Amino acid sequence: MERDALVRKKHNIHTSGSNVPSPLQDFAELKSRYGCKRYLIRNFAELGFKEPTPIQRQAIPILLSGRECFACAPTGSGKTLAFVCPMLMKLKQASKDGVRAVIICPTRELAAQTARECKKLAKGKKFYIKLMTKQLVKSADFSKLHCDILISTPFRLQFAIRKRKLDLSRVEYLVLDESDKLFELDLVEQVDSVVKACSNPSILRSLYSATLPDSVEELARTIMHDAVRIIVGRNEE
Ligand code: ADP
Ligand code: MG
Repeated sequence: MERDALVRKKHNIHTSGSNVPSPLQDFAELKSRYGCKRYLIRNFAELGFKEPTPIQRQAIPILLSGRECFACAPTGSGKTLAFVCPMLMKLKQASKDGVRAVIICPTRELAAQTARECKKLAKGKKFYIKLMTKQLVKSADFSKLHCDILISTPFRLQFAIRKRKLDLSRVEYLVLDESDKLFELDLVEQVDSVVKACSNPSILRSLYSATLPDSVEELARTIMHDAVRIIVGRNEE
């Protein structure tokens, strides 16, 4: 069996799509294959992350190759790092280019948790990572907001776009986390308006959840181009 197929089999990774980039063997490959900066590898080590989880092995190379993906992997399987790591690598360093990346989470608690995880992973680099809090959404005039990564619920983002002149037209990376919940009836319209506001034609989108109902897969396919589908099975070790 070829190497990629072996790695996928071992880690219970199933992909569909054309020319799917090779899964990672280890974190060191991030440096050898993609020139990953030392601070990230160091942060992984400091956090006690010895090897990538299955979703990280496959999603990271896909995003680093500039491909979109939608991924289904169990709760607790490290999906946050799977999208934050390539985002930090692609953003390279802080810049004042408006809002550069957006992560949408279905609840305020998940958004706050994701922001904390992002900051841990970015430690040692001066990225500007911002959580859309109640205060922020109330007080700010967003027209001149510079922010490398903005994390929010769809409700607060939609409000900021409509009432606070938040400009998402330069966003290069958009993540829809827990997308099965985001696409539940009461959120779908808000998510849709955020997706539309991220109008940069070269945007890279990705979508994560623990389950992948047909309805979510259909929505994913309508908003993404040539996306790779990744499904990680429950691993019995
Ligand atoms: P999910 O979003 O898939 O439910 P999380 O991204 O919240 O999972 O990660 C679950 C836990 O696993 C977190 O505490 C995270 O810090 C930890 N984690 C992430 N990647 C790794 C790794 N490669 N090795 C060990 N632990 C990890
Ligand atoms: Mg998660």
